[in-house]
Amino acid sequence: MRILTLLFLFLFTIDLPVSGQSTNSQIHQPLEEVIEQIQQQFDVKIRYSEGLLKDKELRFAPWRVRNYDLQQTLINVLAPFDLVAHPEPDGNYRIRIFDFTRKPVPDGQAHLEHLKNQYHHSKAWERRKSELRQCMMETLGLNALRSYSMPAAITGKRRNFEGYSVQNIALETLPGLFMAGSVYMPLKRKGPFPVILSPNGHFPDGRYRDDQQLRCAGLARMGAIVVSYDMFAWGESELQFAKEHHSTPIAQVIQSHNSIRLLDYMLSLKDADPSRVAITGASGGATQAMVLAALDDRITVSIPVVMVSSHFHGGCPCESGLPVHLCGEGTNNAEIAAMVSPKPMLLVSNGKDWTHTNPELEYPFIKRIYGFYNKADLVSLVHLPEEGHDYGPSKRAAVYSFAVKHLQLDQNAVFDANGQLDEKKCTIEPYKALKVFGDNGEKLPAHALKDIKDLQAVVEKFNNR
Ligand code: ZN
Repeated sequence: MRILTLLFLFLFTIDLPVSGQSTNSQIHQPLEEVIEQIQQQFDVKIRYSEGLLKDKELRFAPWRVRNYDLQQTLINVLAPFDLVAHPEPDGNYRIRIFDFTRKPVPDGQAHLEHLKNQYHHSKAWERRKSELRQCMMETLGLNALRSYSMPAAITGKRRNFEGYSVQNIALETLPGLFMAGSVYMPLKRKGPFPVILSPNGHFPDGRYRDDQQLRCAGLARMGAIVVSYDMFAWGESELQFAKEHHSTPIAQVIQSHNSIRLLDYMLSLKDADPSRVAITGASGGATQAMVLAALDDRITVSIPVVMVSSHFHGGCPCESGLPVHLCGEGTNNAEIAAMVSPKPMLLVSNGKDWTHTNPELEYPFIKRIYGFYNKADLVSLVHLPEEGHDYGPSKRAAVYSFAVKHLQLDQNAVFDANGQLDEKKCTIEPYKALKVFGDNGEKLPAHALKDIKDLQAVVEKFNNR
């Protein structure tokens, strides 16, 4: 009863009555005070950014508090302001503005439980997978775009390094739309070679950054043909479209389409082995990885790094600008990642982002699905509790080891005699060396689209055929 008494002490506004309610119940109270009282009542810390609760007044505060249920209390007092309390790993809470891409962890866990009850064997899961795939393809409008016949790739000069070469390429994946990348090829090895797509996420400097170059060079030295490629309106794509256009839903369509067309190109290369095809990226690059692995049967190994979560599905419109997560009456990235089953998959997670729950939530959920095929041993998790959101050395080492096992690559190319990671023979090139269209974009073809409206028109044209 203590909180009810305290709350009444703060009563300071009497409102006009509404139908069926007494005047006395119409109290208003600053939300900040209500939260303070809840902290005391439940002996919990509730964090929020400065100013978030400012000028917010709650009606009927005492009637919203459930002294036997903190979660329900927080929902009751915050929902009127479109605010949500997220439990944090330390047992406390953080208040955030409602964000359709992010759920409180217990909400993500409840969703996984709900999904688990929908399938108990491979037949039911295959039905679910097929329903999700069809919906995702339709939501992204990818089937229609596929009908475009790509001209030959634009290729740059090949540069040789120790055990691998690099060649810049560009594909015209839709009329007037170019996607640039660099192909890392093994040297002095006999093919056929596995193919690895290596999309980058929203890390600064995209595919030009050191860790991206190291992992592509490392995997090529190990014996794979690897391609690193720009996101939409990112890197050399910015020669066509301003960075701000990356944060629009068309980025989600184009990035998925580009990955599919890039795979067409990569599998057309001499010595490419279509029976060993992987995709790996971190963060937004992992989103691209799990989506392509879910939609394209040609992927045989999926390695999403620091992204798979039941309570966050990517805050960028290139990940969630279109409602793919509403498919099948609601899905999440754990279920989308599982769509590659029963083919080998490695999840890499850490203790400092939304993958911190992988060991308890997402990994067991996915492993159960692999179990439907008696292939639970083909999905692995490497969880690094002390690490953060990146594709750093220990994560690359985990990925290299998985690639040795499932893509039959040569571990001696990146590990020393003691089994320690050794990438010294991987060269980090200056950014400009990785550009296919020249230092200042002078080689971009003249018919390249420059207006986002023209690209939207091209996409619509294909979808209306
Ligand atoms: Zn994005």
